[in-house]
Amino acid sequence: LSDKLQNIFKNLKSKGRLTETDVKNALKEVKMALLEADVNFKVVKNFVNTVTERAVGTDVLNSLTPGQMVIKIVNEEMVSLMGSEKEELKLRPSNELTIIMMAGLQGAGKTTTAAKLAGKFAAKGRKPLLAACDVYRPAAIEQLKVNGEKLGIPVFSMGSSQKPVDIAKAAVEHAKKNGNNVLIIDTAGRLHIDESMMEELVEVKKNVDVYKTVLVVDAMTGQDAVNVATTFDERIGIDGVILTKLDGDTRGGAALSIRAVTSKPILFGGMGEKLSDLEEFYPDRMASRILGMGDILSLIEKAEASVDMDQAKDLEKRFKKADFGFDDYLVYMQQIKNMGGLADIMSMIPGMGSKMKDAPMPDEKSLGRIEGIIYSMTLEERANPNIINPSRKIRIAKGAGVDISEVNRLIKQFEQARKLMKQMPGMMKGGKKGMFGM
Ligand code: GDP
Ligand code: MG
Repeated sequence: LSDKLQNIFKNLKSKGRLTETDVKNALKEVKMALLEADVNFKVVKNFVNTVTERAVGTDVLNSLTPGQMVIKIVNEEMVSLMGSEKEELKLRPSNELTIIMMAGLQGAGKTTTAAKLAGKFAAKGRKPLLAACDVYRPAAIEQLKVNGEKLGIPVFSMGSSQKPVDIAKAAVEHAKKNGNNVLIIDTAGRLHIDESMMEELVEVKKNVDVYKTVLVVDAMTGQDAVNVATTFDERIGIDGVILTKLDGDTRGGAALSIRAVTSKPILFGGMGEKLSDLEEFYPDRMASRILGMGDILSLIEKAEASVDMDQAKDLEKRFKKADFGFDDYLVYMQQIKNMGGLADIMSMIPGMGSKMKDAPMPDEKSLGRIEGIIYSMTLEERANPNIINPSRKIRIAKGAGVDISEVNRLIKQFEQARKLMKQMPGMMKGGKKGMFGM
């Protein structure tokens, strides 16, 4: 840890619980941030209420201010809202035809995204076919063809004099005949939601076995994203959303709005005009982008790591004790479990991570058994494991209700842990700096 951070985390003291005033004050800022990110105001209102409910009375984490604590909770809620049921765009098995229909307003990025998706599927070994069902803009057919050509993916079209539903039906036949197992139907959009557009999509869905309907939304749509998403979902039913133009400078509040209102998953994010610019959607990155408080969030992250550091320092003290016994070992195992495994702890120390690959990661159950065994030892045995002879082992095993081999294993692991410490460079040598360099 740098000096600066050390200063921040100096004199750690619990700040007690979050009061209503703490929460209210911090949420004022959050509210502004969300509205600036173009999150729908109703969504903001609901969201803020949810967070208030959760936050008031929560313990403030060591080393965070109450305001930071609230933002931490806000961030967690946003991530869970946008990603708790993260779904992929699943396809049918490859011996069946999966039909995907693109929907969305004009200019949202349907045609481009249809091609991007086809490219992704092709890269995974599928045989996609693109169908040009936007008959209102002749240029749209051409655009799809050009994109298909760039990717080496066939495009089915019938010009602009046929009805979209008929083109879609013919495309299905074409796909079946040619061994395509994914059909992506590009459709027409309008500048605004309009009844005949919806009608057309409903027609296609009625006549063609659409497996997934994907709504394409321009991330810059802002406040209106909610209306777009709800209307499309109510009228034609959507299975997921792709948010385009995230490469722009929009904070992307539409993601939160859409997810909150439709609870449909955001499947991908469009990151540019190139056909490779389609990325998986990362709720945590999106949350931090919408919140626009990257600095505070990384500070919070570091603060969380420093809580681990406190524990780690405590561990180190136990390590250093010359008379490291089973009681210490138990606490040591419990801490490792709390901190997510020894390997994780060691990865905080440069050069140590790889050495710890096989370090134990106790789970609840094995920890319970270890406890049982250790509690069956006398205090003397715990403090001085060397005296545990075979007859003592038998007694301990009986007391804990386990097989003697388990007692032997535990003793072996204990000894390994002791040995491990001796191998750690610098760590056991004392001096001012310990293994965590603090
Ligand atoms: P459609 O009317 O819904 O079919 O939209 P298009 O696919 O024709 O896209 C409209 C415009 O947005 C085109 O100029 C695309 O190149 C552009 N576009 C689409 N997706 C993205 C994206 O993720 N990032 C950027 N920067 N531009 C995009
Ligand atoms: Mg188009």
